[in-house]
Amino acid sequence: MKLVDLHTHTQASDGTTSPGDLVRQAQECGLAAVAVTDHDTVSGLAEAQAAGKEYGVEVVRGCELSTSTDMGEMHILGLWLPDDVSLLQGKLEYLRRKRGERNGRIVEKLQGLGIDISMDEVLEEARGECVGRPHIAAVLMRKGVVKDIGTAFKEYLGYYGKAYLPKEVLQPEDAVRLLCELGATVSWAHPMLSTTNAEWREAFLRRLVDNGLSAIEAYHSEHSAADIRACVDMARRYGLALSGGSDYHGANKPKIRLGVGYGSLRVPYDVFETLRTRRARQGLSV
Ligand code: AMP
Ligand code: ZN
Ligand code: FE
Ligand code: FE
Repeated sequence: MKLVDLHTHTQASDGTTSPGDLVRQAQECGLAAVAVTDHDTVSGLAEAQAAGKEYGVEVVRGCELSTSTDMGEMHILGLWLPDDVSLLQGKLEYLRRKRGERNGRIVEKLQGLGIDISMDEVLEEARGECVGRPHIAAVLMRKGVVKDIGTAFKEYLGYYGKAYLPKEVLQPEDAVRLLCELGATVSWAHPMLSTTNAEWREAFLRRLVDNGLSAIEAYHSEHSAADIRACVDMARRYGLALSGGSDYHGANKPKIRLGVGYGSLRVPYDVFETLRTRRARQGLSV
């Protein structure tokens, strides 16, 4: 069966693989198409597209935006971004500036806890322009402060961690509308990942649909078979398409592998083709 992976992160944000290497790996593991969906940046897309041509893998230009809700962050994927993303660039720059301020304050909190860490070390760890907690976690691990990334989040960087600070993000409506205006296919990323209930999801989904949502990420490394069924059911009731991907982050989430997630994820080529057919029908570029 031909497979795809429509949710991946590179070194441009908090993955550890270069965009070119990611596409090469996609070819090696037999994926027909891969979407690069870095957080708050599109700076890895040109390299990924060039590699796509070289290795014969279809590359979808994407990004992942965080939005805030009363149940915490919800993530929105934009797929098939146009070549000209100037409409989006101002917002992305704003989000990255806010990240920078937050990272600085997190580092100060860690220093206040007696940990030897500097912002320079964090920036060195991050090879791309979008810097975040996974890079801080990697520095903590490298310096032996924690044994692994998971512990870094548990002890320091996660919601209950000693150096946690919230991140300034977009409103869900703004993120969906912005991506729609660009002509992207907009998908609600990993809807079942946080501890929400069906009623909350339904209300949130309505908000997204009202602003132009076109898909739901049913297939995801962290989704169980029951989660997938719940997503497929929501999609059917709202006439939405499905999307799916591993949320690959390279060594920052070492157990998640490209295309297969923890091992059992499979996103059929048909998912990709259906998204593309819908776009073509709407007169959007494919
Ligand atoms: P940030 O964008 O700086 O808020 O960091 C968010 C990133 O941290 C996302 O890629 C998350 O998947 C990752 N992350 C959050 N919690 C954990 C965790 N417990 N272990 C590993 N990565 C995490
Ligand atoms: Zn990430
Ligand atoms: Fe996400
Ligand atoms: Fe992601």
